[in-house]
Amino acid sequence: MSEAVKNRPVIVWFREDLRLSDQPALSAGIATGAPVICLYVFDEESEGLRPLGGASRWWLHHSLEALSSALANIGGRLDILRGPGAETVARVVADTHASSVFWTRRYGAAEIEIDRRAKAGLSEAGVTVRSYNGQLLREPWEVQTKAGEFYRVYSPFWRAVRALPDPAQPLPAPKRLIGAAWPDTAHARVDLAALDLLPSKPDWAGGLRARWRPGERGALKQLESFLDERIQRYSSMRDRPDVAATSALAPYLRFGEISPRQIFHAVRHAEQAGSVPARDAEKFIAEIGWREFAYHLLYNVPNLAKRNFQSKFDAFPWREPEPEALAAWKHGRTGYPIVDAGMRELWQTGIMHNRVRMIVASFLVKDLLVDWRVGEEWFWDTLCDADPANNPASWQWVAGSGADAAPYFRIFNPTLQGKKFDPSGHYVRSFVTELSEMPDTWIHEPWLAPSDVLSRAGVTLDGSYPRPIVDHSRARDRALAALSSTRTDSA
Ligand SMILES: Cc1cc2nc3c(=O)[nH]c(=O)nc-3n(C[C@H](O)[C@H](O)[C@H](O)COP(=O)(O)OP(=O)(O)OC[C@H]3O[C@@H](n4cnc5c(N)ncnc54)[C@H](O)[C@@H]3O)c2cc1C
Repeated sequence: MSEAVKNRPVIVWFREDLRLSDQPALSAGIATGAPVICLYVFDEESEGLRPLGGASRWWLHHSLEALSSALANIGGRLDILRGPGAETVARVVADTHASSVFWTRRYGAAEIEIDRRAKAGLSEAGVTVRSYNGQLLREPWEVQTKAGEFYRVYSPFWRAVRALPDPAQPLPAPKRLIGAAWPDTAHARVDLAALDLLPSKPDWAGGLRARWRPGERGALKQLESFLDERIQRYSSMRDRPDVAATSALAPYLRFGEISPRQIFHAVRHAEQAGSVPARDAEKFIAEIGWREFAYHLLYNVPNLAKRNFQSKFDAFPWREPEPEALAAWKHGRTGYPIVDAGMRELWQTGIMHNRVRMIVASFLVKDLLVDWRVGEEWFWDTLCDADPANNPASWQWVAGSGADAAPYFRIFNPTLQGKKFDPSGHYVRSFVTELSEMPDTWIHEPWLAPSDVLSRAGVTLDGSYPRPIVDHSRARDRALAALSSTRTDSA
């Protein structure tokens, strides 16, 4: 590289990769030896981008704060701008005379289009653009069926991914970075606070603050505690919301505060060291595989969050949601304790256990016959891990309209699910506190409890806790009838 080019800064454009370690774009930028501009563009303007939900905005604020101080510790600075991604980056290049731009690839259609336009414009102006995989174990296009198509079924997809060599070892976090000055003549940067990502009127984020430490350090600690304390019961207990057995890494993965490669190799390392049994390691990595599969779909299927993957579901007779029933679902007042505990966990903490996500989603689309897109939107707004691939793919999976989906006719019975996966009601009691004195026998069906049991537990039906808003067995029949009215094949 010539001296003239070397003195021109390079730009690392941070997006959904808010970390320093295993950050190929950042490492490549630093390796040029040039001063580095670490740029974040808050983009609410580019066409087709889905605006972030409330919990994600909260997370993003803290994540950018953490990234900013991590960069400062190694001599850098996070420069934040607001505007349409491609145009804003082009403006920063013009303002700073940057020689190159580096970024981590994204996989949604709108994001790909922004990056394509950015790359075309910059390349034409003689600026070097390099993009990297930092978010997936494998690129979505690296595996294909024998017919040369994308996979529609998880198991063969995952077998194909696992048949490839293991993903590369993660890169270490850079120790030092030469920060680039921001020219006085350049467009003004904005303060993080000016992005207005935090809720204020009202401030509903107390539960999130109590539960989470967003940012790379939080992610690495979460991984460490999972490998030390919980993964050893992952394969046997991951379906039990009353037992701490999962990683809670989802929001960190969503914002790229940790990479799946780091997780993959840390798990393998712990397995080789003998501290994690092989079956737990394999089961856990297979769940990371579901994330890979969802991204494979996001990349290959247009409009995953809006269109039924199986078009025969376009004719499904969803009911217009009754405002009261929908509000009861959202706020955990359906009268089914496991559903209510899940929806309150979501509202209070910004996450929900996977098994309970399946139960509450099944309740919405099958017991209440509400279109899966309504539930997907609510999760998008309230989950800290609201993910453009995992969320729609999982909702379509539950609804039966998705790729490799659970058949629509498999309808979860919320009472039986509660008894099976939260046998002593520990999970329910921690979120549905008005049932905290209910004995185990009745905790999942308080409406059947004898009156003396209810009064000893201080529960008044339709007073302190509601009766079920629908009768499950009738709702089940109604859902099956709706299905058969649209069924054109063996569904
Ligand atoms: C209706 C519904 C909506 C969902 N929405 C999201 C979402 O918006 N974002 C999200 O990350 N996950 C979503 N999931 C998948 C899953 O529930 C969460 O990833 C998981 O509960 C997160 O907790 P964890 O990190 O402790 O998971 P762990 O069990 O520790 O799994 C580790 C990681 O693997 C991935 N993973 C695990 N299970 C799945 C799965 N079934 N599908 C895709 N990836 C998976 C996640 O990245 C997760 O963090 C949804 C599931 C359902 C049924």
